[in-house]
Amino acid sequence: MSELRISKSAYLHNLAAIAKKAGGESRVMAVLKDNAYGHGARIIAALANEFGLRRAVVRSLDEALEIAEFFEQILILSHIPDGNEPSEAGNCALVYGINELDALNAIKAGSCVHLACDTLMHRNGLRFEELERAYEIARKRGVSVLGAYTHYRSADEYSGEFDVQKNNFARFKARVRELSVKFGTPAPVFHSHNSAATERAASEEGELVRVGMAQFGYAQFDESLDLHRVASLWADRVSHRVLTKGESVGYGGVFTASEEIAVATYDLGYGDGLLRYAGFGDLRLANGAKILGKMSMDSFSCEDVGEKVCVFDDANVWAKFFGTINYDILVKLSPRIKRTLID
Ligand SMILES: *Cc1c(COP(=O)(O)O)cnc(C)c1O
Repeated sequence: MSELRISKSAYLHNLAAIAKKAGGESRVMAVLKDNAYGHGARIIAALANEFGLRRAVVRSLDEALEIAEFFEQILILSHIPDGNEPSEAGNCALVYGINELDALNAIKAGSCVHLACDTLMHRNGLRFEELERAYEIARKRGVSVLGAYTHYRSADEYSGEFDVQKNNFARFKARVRELSVKFGTPAPVFHSHNSAATERAASEEGELVRVGMAQFGYAQFDESLDLHRVASLWADRVSHRVLTKGESVGYGGVFTASEEIAVATYDLGYGDGLLRYAGFGDLRLANGAKILGKMSMDSFSCEDVGEKVCVFDDANVWAKFFGTINYDILVKLSPRIKRTLID
């Protein structure tokens, strides 16, 4: 059976490097959305907990409930409020990101929130002029505002935009501090740095960081962090045979043997979330073997390299081949693939 091997030592090593850069483990929020970037939410959450992280970030309420037992507090980024939030007054184990003003009117009274701030990206968040209104609505409805955050639109590119947004967020933070005094709410927490921003610069004074991809060993800037890749994808041999010269393997017969060759079929395909290799171009497995012919839904064929083959231990190989980013390769890995914890 195919499996995604998760290296415990690599993951803990990465968290230590990130915590150091961020100014301590209490500053780190582990972003575990989308099944922990395909790695497996519960397996990664348990490791983050073992390391000592107390906060996580996910996309939806379902994702938060799946890993709630491992964290003191979970921030939900893309929750669409409907008044049925399972939060109890005084218990802020779940914190909802407020992506627009209306969300404060829709969310259940007693909920705990962080205000998303629109500092340039214009994807989500409140505008500067809306902050006071947000505090007013929150007071009126009994919603607890615990903090504020923003997201950089180009932390992963060298450009001045990063600094423009930092300056914008500094203004938002000052205003939120003022408002929290005016409205008598607790001192707010702030966060803005994703992985690339955390690699790029130590976090802003007193801020938390929201680190996603760096946890899994993929650096975008700071190679000196020496991150180790956490996941490797393995497939098992379903069958093997010898092709004689002129025989073709798979749909459409796209690969034809030019001489006798031992081939094998392995149990991973595009139905498992791999992007579909159409049989052309140089896409290689971790051991250098080429996939032969078109990938099927549940399998691919290649030179027979034994009972198990490592499909990749570096998602960049597949990302580069398909003209996409490593996130896109990892996050698509089907939750049905078995996750196995290794040292
Ligand atoms: C996904 C996400 C992150 C984490 O991004 P990485 O690049 O994986 O570190 C942080 N903040 C928000 C708002 C996100 O959506």
